[in-house]
Amino acid sequence: ALSDRLSKLVKSMRGQARITETNVQDMMREVRMALLEADVALPVVRDFINRVKEKALGQEVVGSLNPGQVLVGIVHKELAATMGEGVADINLAVQPPAVILMAGLQGAGKTTTTAKLAKHLIERRKKKVLTVSADVYRPAAIEQLKTVTKQAGADWFPSRPEDKPRDIALAALDHARRHLFDVLLVDTAGRLAIDEALMAEIRELHAALNPIETLFVVDAMQGQDAVNTAKAFKDALPLTGVVLTKLDGDSRGGAALSVRQITGAPIKFAGVSEKIDGLEVFDADRHAGRVLGMGDIVALVEEVQKGVDIQAAQKLADKVRSGEGFDLNDFLAQLSQMKKMGGLSGLLDKLPSELAAKAGQADMGKAEKDVRRMEGIINSMTPLERRKPDLLKASRKRRIAAGAGVQVQEVNRLLNQFEQMRDMMKKMKGGGLMKMMKRMGG
Ligand code: GDP
Ligand code: MG
Repeated sequence: ALSDRLSKLVKSMRGQARITETNVQDMMREVRMALLEADVALPVVRDFINRVKEKALGQEVVGSLNPGQVLVGIVHKELAATMGEGVADINLAVQPPAVILMAGLQGAGKTTTTAKLAKHLIERRKKKVLTVSADVYRPAAIEQLKTVTKQAGADWFPSRPEDKPRDIALAALDHARRHLFDVLLVDTAGRLAIDEALMAEIRELHAALNPIETLFVVDAMQGQDAVNTAKAFKDALPLTGVVLTKLDGDSRGGAALSVRQITGAPIKFAGVSEKIDGLEVFDADRHAGRVLGMGDIVALVEEVQKGVDIQAAQKLADKVRSGEGFDLNDFLAQLSQMKKMGGLSGLLDKLPSELAAKAGQADMGKAEKDVRRMEGIINSMTPLERRKPDLLKASRKRRIAAGAGVQVQEVNRLLNQFEQMRDMMKKMKGGGLMKMMKRMGG
């Protein structure tokens, strides 16, 4: 797989001390492939690679990193920066009702996203929300919006298929005003492909409604085609944001990069399931890992969270957060969590390559077989030793080894791996783990 090729390349640069034309070229070849495989449009890929090259060549390699790791870091950062800047929520800074117009091809997920957004605005922003369908071509579409709006706990404005979309929308706006709604979400008709008549219609809707947000809804599975679609909608409408749907599919989501570049509008949300709660604020950092095929630390931590009881994870996070050391008790807890998650090597796959390379040095694949033994060793330690591993000098190690029925070298190896893990924990401190904990409401 691609992530393997990237990690291999990073490893192959281990002996090198500097970033050079050659290793930049090597890395860019892989990154280019990664982006194309993720269905990013070719001109967008070229642009991106050129930018990264420029940045990379001036970059110094410091600390224990090798040029490969530094380059991956630069690529990742630039990718995240290209796809978004901070959190971009819905803008409601206008005299209510704030109108949000949904645009996009048929099947992109407009109707579903309308309801998801309604729910988001009700729950997170405490708004009173009305939805309306301007999709008069398919009566089923109006019914569909009604059903999902109910699920969202929002109000729905009935549209008569015999009326004009513009008149329906204006009637809904009038209703929203008179009944003191904060937000009116306007779902629009599907376009199977770019169609001039329908484009004219949505332009007309835009002119009549003067929406504060005009959201372009696009299917992440669209890949290369997303470019043309995005271009057409951008030319027709002043887009204020993008919703990337169906990110729960296997697409690597390269459309995000293309669409972002072409529309210039921020990607505000990601659709992650068909269900009404399947909407997330778009996380560019996290998405960059996916596009590169490198896994990401947030996904990793989420998996940990699934496999273990949340309290244990929370305690661990608190520890890391408070800067109070990660000790052997935590390590023991981690070991049993990993067993539940299908072993250390499965975990390694989810680490970004930089960390995976580090962990790889500790030979964690082999450690998987030894987990039970490692538990035995830790169990032979006194509670004080587990809390303060620094106490473990030669005589204590001999006692522990004898108690666990292993060689002293094995005790040393375990302590080594513990230190690797502690380093990883420190790295997670600033990023994924904290995000996860926030999401859990911790
Ligand atoms: P519209 O034609 O743009 O209104 O698209 P719809 O909202 O009707 O969605 C088209 C199909 O995509 C439906 O079957 C939805 O359930 C599905 N869908 C929409 N968003 C998502 C998503 O984020 N994930 C998944 N898996 N399916 C989605
Ligand atoms: Mg629809």
